[in-house]
Amino acid sequence: MEESARLSRNRSRRLALLHNQKRYSGEKPMRFVTLVAYLSLIICLAGILYRLVRWCALPVGPESEDVGIIPRLLAAITALTATLVLPRRLFALMRTVLLEVIVQRRILRQSRVRWAVHMMIFYGMLLLIVMHTFDDQITAHWFSGYASTLNPFMFLRNLLGIMVLVGVIAALWRRRSIRTPRRTTAFSDLFLPALLAGIVLTGAALEAVQIISPTLFDQMVSDYMRSEDPEEIAPLKAFWSERFEVAFTPPPTHDPLVMRQGRRLHAEYCAACHSRPVSAVLAFPLVLAIKPLSEHIAGLDLTTWLWYVHYLISCLALALLPFSKLFHLFAAPVSLIARALGPAATDSPANRPTRRAMSLDACTHCGVCNRHCAVAPIFQVIANPRILPSEKLGGVADLAAGRKDACAHILLAEGSCICTACGRCTRFCPSGIDLQDLWAASTADLNRQGYAEPHGWIGRHTASEWAQILKTHPHSNPGKSSLQRPDIRLADNPDTFWACIQCSTCTNVCPVVAASEDPQRDLELTPQQIMNLMRLQLKETALGSRMVWNCVTCYKCQEHCPQNVRVADVLYELRNEAFRRLCQCRRRTEEDDSGRQLTSPSRRSIDA
Ligand code: SF4
Ligand code: SF4
Ligand code: SF4
Ligand code: SF4
Repeated sequence: MEESARLSRNRSRRLALLHNQKRYSGEKPMRFVTLVAYLSLIICLAGILYRLVRWCALPVGPESEDVGIIPRLLAAITALTATLVLPRRLFALMRTVLLEVIVQRRILRQSRVRWAVHMMIFYGMLLLIVMHTFDDQITAHWFSGYASTLNPFMFLRNLLGIMVLVGVIAALWRRRSIRTPRRTTAFSDLFLPALLAGIVLTGAALEAVQIISPTLFDQMVSDYMRSEDPEEIAPLKAFWSERFEVAFTPPPTHDPLVMRQGRRLHAEYCAACHSRPVSAVLAFPLVLAIKPLSEHIAGLDLTTWLWYVHYLISCLALALLPFSKLFHLFAAPVSLIARALGPAATDSPANRPTRRAMSLDACTHCGVCNRHCAVAPIFQVIANPRILPSEKLGGVADLAAGRKDACAHILLAEGSCICTACGRCTRFCPSGIDLQDLWAASTADLNRQGYAEPHGWIGRHTASEWAQILKTHPHSNPGKSSLQRPDIRLADNPDTFWACIQCSTCTNVCPVVAASEDPQRDLELTPQQIMNLMRLQLKETALGSRMVWNCVTCYKCQEHCPQNVRVADVLYELRNEAFRRLCQCRRRTEEDDSGRQLTSPSRRSIDA
């Protein structure tokens, strides 16, 4: 009977403790805390709604010219209803959710390490949210004996935190070790891991300062032992000082008799809600690190400050969810499901722009497409990031959003022109984005907006006209481009050409020269003549020649050159240089048109 009464007493204390846990983090102005939480939730929900509406509004592809937002919304609802009603589509949906969303089979097939990293971050964070953030609403209801300071909950929470941290560190390490062009890094690629790591680390630090805090110990003793008598509390203090790492000042003596009394008091009042802090595998090393400093940090009220930081970072993550890369948590599963139901081209015309807009949000910027892209190595020579599919996607998003940046759209046009539509990016994209369809749609959009493929507008002037423009235009400076990679500045280095003996082999093997009936008329200069001009430091003349634009980069000239001159690389670099200057001219001219008056040369001379 006595034992059962004790257990019942402990249980009611445990429940009371559960409801009072947050109080032991220090007194918080609850109105402010609740307001921040609700505000974050409202921003999050409003943001999600905005993104969903945007899916039906963003014009991506030629079909969007003919269908408005309402028909697109209806088409999306029809497709969704058909998926839920038709057994075949429903089966495909369930299969995709299981294999592609829950198991992440696409990533597993590509790399086990990447899959493990992804799973650690995703499931670690998801379980932390379920088990820890919503402990009152979920965990306490599922487990009647739940207390956050009790095992296995305390151990599991710390283990999940370690999973997220290890995943974040591994993801950053991989991003650093796999370099451009295979993977590029944007601010958002670093911000999201930093945010997740910040949440976990502040949580661990908070737990560590709570463990060593004598103030929290006093509060708990006062609430549950209901004693203010120092002599009665002293054995419990000694026991908690030794076994629970509470940093009392001065430290109590650990006399064996006192410790036995402390153990008895602990079993009576505390054991039902507290496991030893060594089980907090993430926070415990921090406990050992800060315990010697406890005297110095005692007055800082760190439990309160860290609680605020942890809480506010978590609210920030919630509010940013629809406006950051985190949104792929919604968009990527939708994209995978849509892909499983068929390619975008087989969808109704009214639904295609919506699918494409949704795909733009599903990209995680993982760079897998770059690794498989047939033309990614060209980025090493033409430093146009829009050649890489992961970056081209950003250009497509800018174009669809109506961003006014002519130079960016010209770069996108060049990237689209270089793409061979091999479909490898689509096949390997872990988010299931139909990239090939996006490229076709964006190319049509570019053409419609006047950003034809580069040779379309370059061909409007003869080589000598371009050479003249390049020489005389005030905005065409031959300075170093931010996109130009320093290791491929061949054209300005005399060592590149000094060995050329003008043997004409490069010209004789060139298929472009061979295909021309009159090379002087069609190409103006042959590869050998260009090499000669470069030797004579007449780069500006060589820059504008048609040969530079007509070279198909077959590398025959370079392979056959008896002197190992990098003929094809030089031609590529010249084209890149000319293109960069033309973009610069065009952009500045547009800026001038909107404000100042351009004097020389006339706008017409460089207008595409
Ligand atoms: S398009 Fe796909 S593969 Fe490429 S970066 Fe985005 S999610 Fe990764
Ligand atoms: S379709 Fe274009 S972007 Fe995609 S892998 Fe092939 S060449 Fe690269
Ligand atoms: S670049 Fe090579 S192949 Fe061409 S003319 Fe010079 S030495 Fe001959
Ligand atoms: S790389 Fe260009 S210049 Fe050289 S052989 Fe091929 S087409 Fe001719």
